[in-house]
Amino acid sequence: MHKTRSVDLDEGKKAEEQSRFLAQLQASLNVIPAYAWCAAPSGGLTFVNKRTAEYLGLPHDHPLRFGIDVGAQWDAHIALLHPDDHEKSRKSWSTCLRTGEFAEESFRVRNAQGGYRWFRSRVEPLRASDGTLLQWVGVNVDIEELTCAEQALRESERSSRSAIDGIAGLVAIMAPNGELETVNRQVFEYFGQSLEELKNWGTSDAVHPEDLPHVVELFKRVIASGNPYHIDQRLRRFDGEYRWFETRGVPVRDDSGRIARWYVLHTDIEDRIRALARLEQMQSDFAHMNRVATMGQLTASITHEVNQPITAAVTYALAARRFLSADPPNFREVDDALSLIVKEGTRAGEVVERVRALIKKMPARKDAVAIDDAILEVIALTRTEAANNSVSVRTQFAEGLPRVQGDRVQLQQVMLNLIVNAIQAMRGIGEGARELQISIDAVPSEGGVRVGVRDTGPGLSPESLSRLFEPFYTTKPDGMGMGLSICRSIVEAHGGRLWAEANEPRGTIFQFTLPAVQVGP
Ligand code: ADP
Repeated sequence: MHKTRSVDLDEGKKAEEQSRFLAQLQASLNVIPAYAWCAAPSGGLTFVNKRTAEYLGLPHDHPLRFGIDVGAQWDAHIALLHPDDHEKSRKSWSTCLRTGEFAEESFRVRNAQGGYRWFRSRVEPLRASDGTLLQWVGVNVDIEELTCAEQALRESERSSRSAIDGIAGLVAIMAPNGELETVNRQVFEYFGQSLEELKNWGTSDAVHPEDLPHVVELFKRVIASGNPYHIDQRLRRFDGEYRWFETRGVPVRDDSGRIARWYVLHTDIEDRIRALARLEQMQSDFAHMNRVATMGQLTASITHEVNQPITAAVTYALAARRFLSADPPNFREVDDALSLIVKEGTRAGEVVERVRALIKKMPARKDAVAIDDAILEVIALTRTEAANNSVSVRTQFAEGLPRVQGDRVQLQQVMLNLIVNAIQAMRGIGEGARELQISIDAVPSEGGVRVGVRDTGPGLSPESLSRLFEPFYTTKPDGMGMGLSICRSIVEAHGGRLWAEANEPRGTIFQFTLPAVQVGP
């Protein structure tokens, strides 16, 4: 038994009291369900409780079981600890001894069988009322299971991280309130931002400014409702380029049905979008080509047929000039030549009439056409053309339209002509909105439907208004002037009418009617 200083008791009494106190302490430590031990103020182990002695496999008569100070030094019992933990335990213990303060440390302790388990150890100084350090009292808690569980958790986090890192796409995991919790490697690589920076996506430039208001609005709604969502948006890559992404978010719920997390997958669809734009461009080019080809064929045959009478008329005119300038002028020959010119001129006119008649006679199919669908297809084909010329397209289709009788493709040709004309007319205007409005109404009084194509272009001059539908009337340098004439022929062949008038406050409206399919016998 070692000596301690005394201030208010005499030495012997004090020693007796102390040893009684320590005996009581050790008796208590023996019954608590924990691993406990005591050490002398100098650091040597003096006592281990029953539970600890059994764990260590100390013999029944081992002095440490009875709190007899064996004068053991730290170095002597550090051997009980796992070699990898020696260093930190030594450090922590020497700090305790130096400062006289409590300490906490985790280490592995060897058991009777030579195996190790993790313990969390807390050691406290036990002082007399005068502050003298009497003993160190340590309590160790077995944290083996906890440590294993933590390790397993870390392992599972690692493996789930490597799982999300393996997903082909940008993965974000959010808390139920929508706050970003974690993201996969691809997200860091794509944005080139830290998690903290990414958390501020609502105010940063991560989402394209044009998409942001819509995305934020949807996001708020989704977080409040807890429904899965889907949105296309442009996200800013680390180098400043925005690319299109398809974003899908799903809530994952816990056993009680509450949302535990949101899983969000962003898939890069830039290439797909580009391909789609190319496809639309191709369709539009194709529509153009188709239109040009149809026109081309027509003009080829028209020019061929018209050329002949015109060449003949020119020849007769030259002859007439010669007869006129003869001395004396030969008026009879001039008169003959003029009659021939009139004849050839009439022939040329007949050719054009024949072409129109030909179109009228084209064996038009008599299908029941859903005119709205047919027109929507044409609008889709011309969308790129409209967008390239900054023309916005609006549709106003009445509900429950009757079907019209006729040839779907021919009717689409009419629409294609009217829409392309309108876009071309608006291309020339400098200021003001370029709006194309396409409407379809049911007109029972005319027994069918009326289609309207309105533009906000320059409108029609009085001359245009009266000559618009004449073959070869055009004001365009590369125009053919056959479009509207053919359109009118097609519409009339369907039993309808096509006309043009001024749009308010500016522009032109082309309208045509088509009779509905006759129902019944
Ligand atoms: P083209 O388009 O080859 O000129 P069209 O017969 O289709 O032949 O059109 C004849 C003319 O009618 C055009 O050159 C143009 O002057 C006029 N026109 C047609 N549509 C419009 C429109 N929407 N606005 C103003 N003028 C138009």
